[in-house]
Amino acid sequence: MNNSLSGWDDTIIALATPPGIGAIGVIRLSGKLSFPIVNELFPSKNLLEAASHTIQVGYLQEDGKPVDEVVLSLFRGPRSYTGEDVIEISCHGSPYIHQQVIDACMRKGARLAKPGEFTQRAFLAGKMDLAQAESVADIIASNTAASLKTALHAMRGGFSARLKDLREQLIRFSALIELELDFSQEDVEFADRGAFYSLVNELTHSTKQLIESFRLGNVIRNGVSVAIIGKPNAGKSTLLNTLLNENRAIVSDIPGTTRDTIEEVINIGGILFRLIDTAGIRQHTSDIIETAGVERSLEKMKQADLVLFLFDASDDLAEITQRVDDLKQQQIKYLLVANKIDQAPGHKEKFAGWEDLIFISARQHLHIEELKEQMTATVVEGEVQSENNIVTNARHYHALKQALQSLEDIQTGLDNLIPGDLLAPDIRRALHYLGEITGQVSNEDMLDYIFSKFCIGK
Ligand code: GDP
Repeated sequence: MNNSLSGWDDTIIALATPPGIGAIGVIRLSGKLSFPIVNELFPSKNLLEAASHTIQVGYLQEDGKPVDEVVLSLFRGPRSYTGEDVIEISCHGSPYIHQQVIDACMRKGARLAKPGEFTQRAFLAGKMDLAQAESVADIIASNTAASLKTALHAMRGGFSARLKDLREQLIRFSALIELELDFSQEDVEFADRGAFYSLVNELTHSTKQLIESFRLGNVIRNGVSVAIIGKPNAGKSTLLNTLLNENRAIVSDIPGTTRDTIEEVINIGGILFRLIDTAGIRQHTSDIIETAGVERSLEKMKQADLVLFLFDASDDLAEITQRVDDLKQQQIKYLLVANKIDQAPGHKEKFAGWEDLIFISARQHLHIEELKEQMTATVVEGEVQSENNIVTNARHYHALKQALQSLEDIQTGLDNLIPGDLLAPDIRRALHYLGEITGQVSNEDMLDYIFSKFCIGK
């Protein structure tokens, strides 16, 4: 047996709440010795006879010395998170007490849990599939309503159900094709090629949809990077402050993003926008020579998913037109924002015929709502609702891409009327990759990798 499953029989323990001082801290044990271990430390009641799904209040004691007054929540397997016997000890929220409680349980035979080990056990006990288990990590990491919603949807199994359905249809065909192989001498076709062709088409379509959803999934999970660019004095830092005042998001850390530039994060309609290089905006750049300024802007634009090009509505029209033309060359998503309309009478006429121009006053807070709506519209483009299946996980995305490749190979094979024995390997490959996502196909290295990214105690 390899490492990941050795220690499988152990009873594990970890702090389930964040380390540090709090009102309470919860310590969780899972495994067949959970009840005997805690029972030895809990003189006021015989836990071995206590009913499941009850709570007990009393003192934890070791060698006659009280450690803390605690509340115990008892869950007997299989009706528990991991499927094993689980006890949650709620004690006072002092790191010293947490350590005392954990040490006492370890002296009675528990060992510290590895990252993600509770959820890994839940997966191995069949409590949830792999995609659901991974979404547990996403739920914990979610920063916004939208990211929480997709993660919850995935945990309840919406995403997995769709994939399983597709995969089962393919398995049925695969069985028929494999059957043909058994009769290969006799030139029979059990699998109706026409029906198979439409199934593969449908599968390809759905797989593509899921792959495309990753873009939005990624946005929901990681946010959209935004660069505000424009000449000195256009009002960039005023706009930044106006946006931040109302919408500043509290985020701890966004996974998968580098933070080499200073950025602020705002939350608009459940989507995180990361305003990059805010230090550059706040610095007064008027003394930087113009070329350096332009290079800086280009650099920023390359890093951004979305550019807000801000200009003073009373600036010279030819100059603005020139800058917009430059922007169009860059093949970058941008919004044109004309600022200071409070002191630019006749701006509507001046820009007549310009499409997709947003007039604002950053200082007077005019039309800021409209700007925000346009910002979310560039991301969501009305295509997807959070209820749909959205791929947010890079591992799933890569598996789907592999599955798509195999499906396209099957299609080519069918177009060329190749015999069943040559189709079979492609079908097996497609099945393999689709199965990898939900864990119907898995290997222990992969499991170790996935669960090692969880925090300890989950
Ligand atoms: P930055 O150099 O692009 O960051 O520009 P600032 O945000 O520092 O703004 C430059 C000047 O324009 C400041 O005096 C702002 O108060 C002023 N300003 C910014 N937005 C507006 C606006 O909407 N209307 C008016 N009248 N002035 C503005």
